[in-house]
Amino acid sequence: MTLPSGHRVMVLVTGWAEYQARLVDGIAPVLQRRGIPCHVHMTGWDRNRPLPFGLQDMIRAARPTGIIVTTMDERSKEEVLLDQLSTLGVPVVLIGYDRPGALGVRGDNVSGMRELMAHVLDDCGARRLMLVRGVPHQLDSIEREGVFREELLRRGLSVEEGLVVDGHFLAEIAFPAVCDLLRRDRAVDAVVALNDRSAVGVLDAISHTGLRVPGDVLVTGFDDDEVASLSWPGLTTVAQDLEGQGAAAADLLLRVMDGERVSESVQVPSRVVIRGSTRAPAVVGDGGDAEQTAIRLASGRVAAQDALLSMSYSLLWCDTVEEVGDVLATAVTRLGLLRCFLVLREQPLSEDNGGGGTDPGRLVLDYRDGKVHPVPPGTFPVARLLPDVLSGELDRDVLTSQALRVGVKELGYLLFEAVPGTRLKNFMVQAFLSRAIESVFTTRENERYTSLLEQAVAQRTRDLEEVNARLERSLMLDGLTQIANRLAFQRRIEECWQAAAVNGGAVALLMIDVDLFKPYNDHYGHVQGDRALQTVAECLERTALHEDDLACRYGGEEFAVLLPSAGLRGATAVASRFRDELARRAVPHAASSVSSVLTVSVGIAVRSARPDLAAETLVEAADAALYDAKISGRDRVVVNPDSVPAPGAGPRPPRQRRRTAGPVPPAAVPRAGRSGRTPPG
Ligand code: GH3
Ligand code: MG
Ligand code: MG
Repeated sequence: MTLPSGHRVMVLVTGWAEYQARLVDGIAPVLQRRGIPCHVHMTGWDRNRPLPFGLQDMIRAARPTGIIVTTMDERSKEEVLLDQLSTLGVPVVLIGYDRPGALGVRGDNVSGMRELMAHVLDDCGARRLMLVRGVPHQLDSIEREGVFREELLRRGLSVEEGLVVDGHFLAEIAFPAVCDLLRRDRAVDAVVALNDRSAVGVLDAISHTGLRVPGDVLVTGFDDDEVASLSWPGLTTVAQDLEGQGAAAADLLLRVMDGERVSESVQVPSRVVIRGSTRAPAVVGDGGDAEQTAIRLASGRVAAQDALLSMSYSLLWCDTVEEVGDVLATAVTRLGLLRCFLVLREQPLSEDNGGGGTDPGRLVLDYRDGKVHPVPPGTFPVARLLPDVLSGELDRDVLTSQALRVGVKELGYLLFEAVPGTRLKNFMVQAFLSRAIESVFTTRENERYTSLLEQAVAQRTRDLEEVNARLERSLMLDGLTQIANRLAFQRRIEECWQAAAVNGGAVALLMIDVDLFKPYNDHYGHVQGDRALQTVAECLERTALHEDDLACRYGGEEFAVLLPSAGLRGATAVASRFRDELARRAVPHAASSVSSVLTVSVGIAVRSARPDLAAETLVEAADAALYDAKISGRDRVVVNPDSVPAPGAGPRPPRQRRRTAGPVPPAAVPRAGRSGRTPPG
């Protein structure tokens, strides 16, 4: 019977080591025969971390109608995971668990272990046996040890407790423990290790202490891992029939999905596999086959390792995630992948930002049907695994997904379908890819941070420049009248003078002094005097309108107007406009002897600039004219006669104070230097 379409099976595994890969090799064909797609997801193997944050979202989004779960790295995680799965209301089959009442498949340790013991004790005649146990509380280790003890006792042999060591299922722990024991007691016939990995450590320990396998000591393992065929001599072991366990789990699940009431748990028998570590090849007579197998496996491993290493090297040069995708694309075939998709989160997920199932992700690599396809633009919620246009990929064959993580950061995931039988070193693929992507993310983050810093610095600089400019402007402003001050005048006249010296031009200057201002103050008071000065300044500002013009308060009740491009006519026009403006204001001056309103005297000078003449000469010339205006009666404009150079003649050198011939002839009154002068009252 074929299930209605829409069925999907999810398989949860910790990683993609030989154990899980072989289970999936058993599961996949059973589902494929019924046309049911299978999504294998790796939860990761890390004792120090909880289950991945996004796992639950991802499982929900996959909407599986049946789930197969293999053992996790910690019992507490198994509890959490099974709790989560129970809320989905879909059948769950466990592989390798010992949970009464749950649907499950287990390898039968007992049958294969009995065969192994019979081989070691009866066929090979071993009498003094060393036992290398596994993880002390682990069920498989306890069961296998139980059979070891039973079989010895059954034959009237005792278990020597001094010959029992803990190997924790690992070569690196078994090796020193066995070395230590053999140094004290070499009279051991056989070492029974409870898994293949620790048995490899035993083989090394025996040759390290100068003994030979199998001549002096026999060695056995359990699991029939690839290392059992690869080690030399080949390792006698127990094959767990992982493919058989996977197939049994898939069968069980399908029966429940078909509506059958099933409550059993299935045990898949194990069987002994005899190799050179318990019998000399010459006796077995198949040494050639063993060699062939070992060579084939070893060269396959070397090729896979090569592919990984060259991928890792190329990843060093990646600056963008697209480049990471390109490198992965060139490695897919050599890694034995039929399909491969690389998906990256827009923002890495960490504990701080929750489950993240709806976070946007982006497809970076789409490899299938033997070629790389252009990736669709835009993002999609990562829990969906693939963008909508590719969702069909999740509904065919066996696709495996694996999160790419560095530390607490989850960067994205890899989805792949391996050629059946391929033993992909996926944890290395994962590690290399994760590191490369993290480095791209970090660089991107650093660049973003640097650019933010640069922007902040630029903004600060602009702010500072503005403050400086404001400060400078305020330094150049007169506090009372808010027009330019003496400092501004000084700077500007130097600039104008130098520019005019280069261009051969002339500069005009008006020096203005309020008439009889002391009496004004005396009469109206200083506050009123200040207002009068502000009025004078306003009139000046209204008069000096050209953008080059500068009206300023020179000091006290004296003002200056610099007219760099006015010429004599322009200058007299400005002076006259200014006086008209002031007259219009009609500021009463009851204490004045020249008028009933506030008046000013103006001295004008226009001089051709020359590099060898100081700008000061222009001031002196205007000042002299002002002086003449004062002594000739005030309330008038006097032009310094030197202002208009004779046609064809160059500018004349500055003169000492002299009589001027202006619109109103000045009286011949000598005057002191500017600072010491006492204008006639
Ligand atoms: P003259 O026509 O010859 O220029 O006569 P004067 O009285 O204007 O000249 P004098 O130099 O004797 O007096 C200038 C006065 O200007 C004296 C001073 O009190 C006044 N003065 C200078 N600066 C200010 C100011 O900022 N505010 C006020 N209210 N008065 C000022
Ligand atoms: Mg004065
Ligand atoms: Mg004055």
